[in-house]
Formats: sequence, C-alpha cells, structure tokens
Amino acid sequence: MRTIEHWIGGASTSGASSRRGRVWNPATGEQQAEVVLASAADVDTAVQAAKRAFDSWSQSSLSQRTKVLFAFRELVNARVRELAEIVSDEHGKVVSDAAGEVQRGLEVVEFACGIPQLLKGDYSDQVSRGVDAFSFREPIGVCAGITPFNFPVMVPMWMHPVAIACGNSFVLKPSERDPSAAVLIAELWAEAGLPDGVFNVVHGDRESVDALLDHADVAAISFVGSTPIARYIHQRGTAAGKRVQALGGAKNHAIVLPDADLDFASGHLVAAAFGSAGERCMAISAAVAVGAAGDALVEAVNSKARDVVVGAGRDERSEMGPVVTPEARDRIVGLIDAGEAQGGKITTDGRGLVVPGHENGFFVGPTVVDQVTPDMDVYREEVFGPVLSVLRSDSVDAAIDLINANPYGNGTAIFTGSGEAARRFMRGVKVGMIGINVPVPVPMAYYSFGGWKDSLLGQSHIHGPEGVAFYTRAKAVTSRWPHVEHPVDSSFYFPTA
Ligand code: NAD
Repeated sequence: MRTIEHWIGGASTSGASSRRGRVWNPATGEQQAEVVLASAADVDTAVQAAKRAFDSWSQSSLSQRTKVLFAFRELVNARVRELAEIVSDEHGKVVSDAAGEVQRGLEVVEFACGIPQLLKGDYSDQVSRGVDAFSFREPIGVCAGITPFNFPVMVPMWMHPVAIACGNSFVLKPSERDPSAAVLIAELWAEAGLPDGVFNVVHGDRESVDALLDHADVAAISFVGSTPIARYIHQRGTAAGKRVQALGGAKNHAIVLPDADLDFASGHLVAAAFGSAGERCMAISAAVAVGAAGDALVEAVNSKARDVVVGAGRDERSEMGPVVTPEARDRIVGLIDAGEAQGGKITTDGRGLVVPGHENGFFVGPTVVDQVTPDMDVYREEVFGPVLSVLRSDSVDAAIDLINANPYGNGTAIFTGSGEAARRFMRGVKVGMIGINVPVPVPMAYYSFGGWKDSLLGQSHIHGPEGVAFYTRAKAVTSRWPHVEHPVDSSFYFPTA
C-alpha cells in the first residue's frame, strides 16, 4: 500500500506519529493509499523548519522571489495533466474539471508574480517642513493553511503563492482525504528554487490542526472548509492571538425570472449544480423560480439533468464523477430521503445509481427536488452533493428576502433579461459573490474571494488585494533629516504642520 508522507524542510518524511488515514479511490470504492497523520510533535518539526526558513526568505529581494514564482508557474503549467489525474483519482472529479481547478490556481500564482507592484508603499513628501512620511509592508512569519477536500490544488493556491511572495514561510495541512497533490506541489516549489522550509506539507486531522492553532510560532491561519470547523478555527486561532481568515460553507441560490432565456438558464443551472458532483462551495444548490418561470424551468432542468453522463473521473466520456467517500454518499442520500419525506417532489432521482464496471464506486446521480420549502432539511443543510432544490417565489423581492434569510452568504446568481431586476438583486442580496447570468461567479485572482455571514468568519477575504494585506503588516515611517544649519524645534506642543 502506497504511503503518502509529509514534506518538511525540503524532504519527505513519515514523521514520528504512527497514526494513518485511509485514502479512497472513489470511482472503484477501494482504498488506494494510506496517509500519515501528524502528531503535535510532527507539526512542531514543520513549524520550526518554516521558522528557520523565514529568517532568510523574509530578507530575500523582490526579484529573488519573483524568479522563484515565475519558475514555479512554468513547472505547474507543464504538469497540469498529471496534477489533474492525481486529483481525479483521490477526489473523484473528472480530469477536465480537475485541470480547470489547476488553471484557476495558476491564476493566483500569476497574480503573485506581480508582487513587486503589489507591495509598493505610499510616500508623502514634506508632510511638515523637512519631514516626509511613507509606509511599507512586511511579511508576518510562519503562515499555516488548512484546506478542504474539494479543491486540493486550487484552494491551497489561494494561499501559499501569495503568502510566499510576501516573504512568509508556509505550512499547509491539506485535506487528509486527497492529500497527494499537495506533495507534488511541494516538489515543484523545490524544483523552482524555493529554499527548503519555506513551503511545508503536514498531513493530518484534528490533532494536527489543533497543534497549528495553538503553536506560538504560527502567526496566521488561513482556513477553507465547512462552517462549524471555520467557526472553531476562528475562535481558537484568534484566542491564541493569531490572524485568522476562515471561509466556511454555502447554500448558493440562483433566481430565474420569467424573462430569462430558459434554455440558457437551465443549461447553466445543471452545470452549476452537478459539476464536480456538487462538491463546490460555489455550486448552485437552490434554484428559485420566480412567477411563471416555475414549471417550464423544472421541466428543462430535469431533461438536462437526466442527460448528464456519470462515470469514473478518468473516463473521458464522464461529465460527473463519484462523491468523495462512502460517508459523503450516505449523507447525501439521507438528505434526499429527508427531502422526500418532508414533502419535496423528487423529479430526477440519483439514488442507487450504479455505474457499470464501477459497481462499488461512491456514485450519486444528479437529483432534482422540486417544491422545496425553507423548513426542509435538504434546504437547511449544506448537501455538498449533486442535488438541486427548486423553490418557488412570487417576485424578485421575495426571492431576495429568501436568500437573505439563509444563514449562508457565499455566492448567488440571477438569470434575467432585465438590467433593472439584476441591479436590484445585486444591491439587495447579502452575499459576497454575485453572478448576473453567470451561475458560478468565482472572482478572478486579482480580486478577493469570500462570502458574507456564516460563509466567512473573520474579516479577510482570500487572495487578491485582501490576501496581500492578510499576509503582511504595515509600517508607517515619519522621517526627518535636519539640516545642520537649521535650529532644531523640539518644543512640547503636538506638531500639526
Ligand atoms: P471540513 O470542514 O470537514 O474540513 C476542512 C479542513 O478542516 C480539513 O483540512 C480537515 O482535515 C479539517 N478538519 C475537519 N474536521 C476538523 C475538526 N473537527 N477540527 C479541526 N480540523 C478539522 O470540510 P471538507 O468536507 O473538507 O470540505 C467541504 C466544505 O468546505 C464545504 O462546507 C464547502 O462549502 C467548504 N468550502 C468552502 C469554500 C469557500 O471558499 N467558502 C471553498 C471550498 C470548500
């Protein structure tokens, strides 16, 4: 059985702990590897390596850093297919989708290549006679990233390229369910010329996360995952005096107005609900049909949902793969059952789907539940599977109220031909990322990504300008070089001019 090891100080290591986790192949239902699970001592070894590396990396010149970043970008770009296959084998998503996530991660690397521009400070000449004022930003130290299973390349790349470009060192604790991609990324950083210890990977579960949260030498924690864990991370990390950005779960609504092109809207809804088997934090899991759009929309969505080709992620014909673990499959099926028992109408049913040749894979087919109401579990819970709930609403304003009553606020979308309705929607929803005839409005790398309400704990969104601010702290300098012939004014009043 293959063992997936940590990457600490520029080398693989199995660490001191003897605990191991199982890594599945979701398409076959077999265990394909075991992953080492770090103890607090293993985490300390990684943090100490990162701390030593920080001393010199934080003093490296901007051009030294960009040289490594550009090289890393080339190496990842050359290995997109390989990374995508590793992701597909452990996560289950289809290879083309996995290649897409690597591409979106690369966009953050490209953003970070511009770090000399991003770290420019401000300068004010002559704020008082003979006095200048300026500011600049410095790295903060050892930064840690704790990431979810659903984007094992892209989500860590929301963090480490920016942190490292800013002059920090980094310890990544990837999801223990699909840990292999992180190790290849570490090897590519090393090949790109990043000094040993600047980027480390520690595999693990709660024990390793707690060790990072409590470690005195970790300055900042970036977390992406479910809301209960985000809340825990934020509370414990900030209690230990760290900066914490913690992105949580989601329930993303798309509203469809009667004036929308229903063919366009239903096609995009199906892709946004069932792409990556719904295991995306920006997946659309609730469609809100407004007024007369209802029945026609449900019919169009059902007909397209039934055409989705479900199969192994490595099979090029597949549009949608299995879900990540048997527990995830059982949980998703349980929520569909609950939706039915509580009065929802299952109009396309993915329960019990068997893929020939992959009878033991963790498959759930696309599922549409119509006539859903906000009190049902299938709506209240984040399903994180290929399940689209359809709700009905009388007006745009009622749909906006529905969205705003939901505790999550990650992403949302509107399908309409009306600019006025789109504008009212955009201004009215309490949600961080909004699509107008765009179902999955993931911001580009040079904007920042993040939701509102229970989808984000702490203030900081991730990557883009907020990422640079998160991984640095500012110094403001007031400077005077007195002319020897001028009398020095050292009086006691508060200087104002
Ligand atoms: P998760 O919260 O179970 O795990 C995320 C990370 O936390 C993993 O590294 C895991 O090892 C660790 N963890 C899990 N339980 C823990 C515990 N009790 N104590 C300490 N650490 C723990 O999330 P997941 O199932 O891997 O990923 C899916 C979730 O992530 C969904 O809720 C999804 O919406 C969310 N997500 C959000 C975003 C976003 O940008 N807001 C992006 C991707 C995924």
